[in-house]
Amino acid sequence: MSTLSTLPIFPGPVSATGRPATLGVMGGGQLARMFVHAAQRLGYVTAVLDPDPESPAGLISHHHVQTGYSDEQGLLQLASLCAAITTEFENVPSDALQTLAARRPVAPGAASVAIAQDRIQEKSHFTACASVSGVQCAPYAVIETPDHLQAVPADLLPGILKTARMGYDGKGQVRVKNTTELAKAWADLQQVPCVLEKLLPLKAECSVIVARGWNGEVVSFPPQRNVHVDGVLAVTEAYEGNMPSALSAQAQQATKSIAQHIGYVGVLCVEFFVLDDGSHRGKESATLVVNEMAPRPHNSGHYTLDACDFSQFDLQVHALAGLPLPQPRQHSPAIMLNLLGDVWLDAQGQSRTPDWQAVLALPGTHLHLYGKTEARSGRKMGHLNITGPDVAGVKATARRAADILGLPGLESLQ
Ligand code: ATP
Ligand code: MG
Repeated sequence: MSTLSTLPIFPGPVSATGRPATLGVMGGGQLARMFVHAAQRLGYVTAVLDPDPESPAGLISHHHVQTGYSDEQGLLQLASLCAAITTEFENVPSDALQTLAARRPVAPGAASVAIAQDRIQEKSHFTACASVSGVQCAPYAVIETPDHLQAVPADLLPGILKTARMGYDGKGQVRVKNTTELAKAWADLQQVPCVLEKLLPLKAECSVIVARGWNGEVVSFPPQRNVHVDGVLAVTEAYEGNMPSALSAQAQQATKSIAQHIGYVGVLCVEFFVLDDGSHRGKESATLVVNEMAPRPHNSGHYTLDACDFSQFDLQVHALAGLPLPQPRQHSPAIMLNLLGDVWLDAQGQSRTPDWQAVLALPGTHLHLYGKTEARSGRKMGHLNITGPDVAGVKATARRAADILGLPGLESLQ
């Protein structure tokens, strides 16, 4: 379908009947919920497709199509409701996106999502971009057959074996020290296609979020620094000086070229590792390595809701609808603390109510909860953004909030 001819999709009443335009999203989790908030603020009607009747976005959207992601009727219903459609997760079947794209503008497109779904394709894409982006991915080998397993170069060990598809939050990953452990790990993963990545000495991790429009215009947030605990994002630090400035510029440039190379439309997040290269020339000695990309807004960009004039979800709406893409401006330093279900559980696993009274009495604390009714260990329930006039104050408040809630991940905060 000719996408540009149907764009831009202006918000608010669009016809004499006064019916506003509708924007749709595949998936009804917290990312879709925050997209819905941003779209509704601009006057759009929203539609969500998610099989779960209690999904966080379905609960607040004008329309909720409650079918599976491949259900033909559900997809046709979504397409008939919406003027344009986006996605909140990369594992949406690419056939479903193609079905939608035959009827309505869909961003990001099925081809971009397919790359992000598969680590093997993703790494080929990063390698193809390396001459422009200037950033390589970690040394790796593809393991799809027993012969591949036998041929793994010894210098990739110790390494991390990752399933090519369906991994998230550190799931589908096994750390292996030697070939025996590697063979066992691959057998335990049912010998599905995998990549073995060399285990790198990480000094830090960061990510960059860009938004690219249908016309190729790109805007970007500066890199945010991320701390993971047990493979799940725990803390994001977003302020000037969180990263050496040369690396910040390199990471932003690399992310833009990764988006451009595939004609990406929408919000894209690329995760990077910062390596300590072993020399002793201070910060200048760090090296950037590209890890993976998410074809959607990202957990590490949630600070933009309170610290920037346009959030990552605002840009997702603008990009999808073909509205002008503003260069976002961060007005406050920020730290984001992820709130997993564990915050609602005591040491015995019994449920408890966190002391919100104490947390919200701290300066510049913005609580975001996703409307999930059941708190399970490891489940993303919400996040707390801390903003303030200066970095030192934001750090001090983050430490106090983390103490009250019993949150990990702030040990490295200096
Ligand atoms: P996400 O939730 O970001 O989708 P994921 O399950 O897709 O996570 P990765 O981002 O590949 O997994 O890895 C999770 C974390 O494991 C990384 O953020 C990093 O802390 C660590 N890690 C992954 N690969 C390597 C590596 N090659 N060397 C060292 N640490 C690594
Ligand atoms: Mg990751």
